[in-house]
Amino acid sequence: MAVVKSNAYGFGAPQIAWAALHAGADQLAVARFGEARVLREAGIPAPVLVFGMVTPPEVDEAITQGVMLTLHSFEAARLFAQRAHTAGKQVRAHLKVDTGFGRLGVLSKEVIDLARTCQALGGITVDGIYSHLAMADEAPDHPVTRQQIERFGEVLDSLQAAGLRPRWAHLGNSAAAFGLPAARFDMVRVGTALLGMKPFYFQPFPAELQRVIRWKTQVASCRLLPAGWGVSYGHEYITAAPEWIATLPVGYGDGFRRLPGNQVLLEGQRAPVVGRVCNDMCMVRLPHAVPVGSEVVLIGRQGGEEITTDELIDRWHTSQADIVSSINPRVPRVYFK
Ligand SMILES: *Cc1c(COP(=O)(O)O)cnc(C)c1O
Repeated sequence: MAVVKSNAYGFGAPQIAWAALHAGADQLAVARFGEARVLREAGIPAPVLVFGMVTPPEVDEAITQGVMLTLHSFEAARLFAQRAHTAGKQVRAHLKVDTGFGRLGVLSKEVIDLARTCQALGGITVDGIYSHLAMADEAPDHPVTRQQIERFGEVLDSLQAAGLRPRWAHLGNSAAAFGLPAARFDMVRVGTALLGMKPFYFQPFPAELQRVIRWKTQVASCRLLPAGWGVSYGHEYITAAPEWIATLPVGYGDGFRRLPGNQVLLEGQRAPVVGRVCNDMCMVRLPHAVPVGSEVVLIGRQGGEEITTDELIDRWHTSQADIVSSINPRVPRVYFK
């Protein structure tokens, strides 16, 4: 199951969905119903699961569009059944069980009751059951992960015994897909790894994966500023001597964070960002003049140097998914096939 929520973490949901389906993915998943609609409007016929909550009109649209919904509570079961009866059709759903994430789903001990409720209400086709791991990217054998796998396995056993086990049982995200065979069950839900990003914090980059993102800009202006010259809002940086300062057309409005310590690649070397990052521009200090239009890399490789999303996790104190999904739509995406 290829997870293309949040516009495939900013990479472009229809493009990534098509690439994943052509490469062998069977199903897709998104977080909001509107994201499923975008896939259908792009002509993508594959099964799509919505992870999040839905409103009654969205349930109606899911029925007509054949989109699968997450059934995470008894209340949701009653809503789905009621809309299904009104439409005279079935709602397709995956049950959600909270095995230790504390976000969404019924507790393990309630699952049998929920499955029976769906059966009794009618109008609901239960295609799957799933849960989400809290610690899989931290360490492969974390006790919390082991407990979640065990709980999920017990839930499946009890459903099996009651003759209610759905076709698709799934628990693992990218980290589990690469590092935790015991969490794979019938299907894995892969998001970040699909986009060539490292699935774990503390383990090396998997050999099977390849980094694919490259975020680049170009030098808009390069000037020799006098000594003692303040750069950007608040003059947090002041030139110590006459210095070559280049201005780049990228800022926090593009998703380049307004935080200290940023670096970029120019002529295969690291150059420091100086002064505050503005909404639309930022400045870098260079050892010498460079031509306007010179390529500048913000994420990716240039010459022998590379700035990875792993590096930015520490600098920007956030996740890789957040880093790439925050690259604003005004930054054009170019796909190489
Ligand atoms: C986002 C998400 C995933 C994908 O996680 P990755 O770590 O990006 O692979 C899987 N399952 C659920 C429920 C999610 O919300």
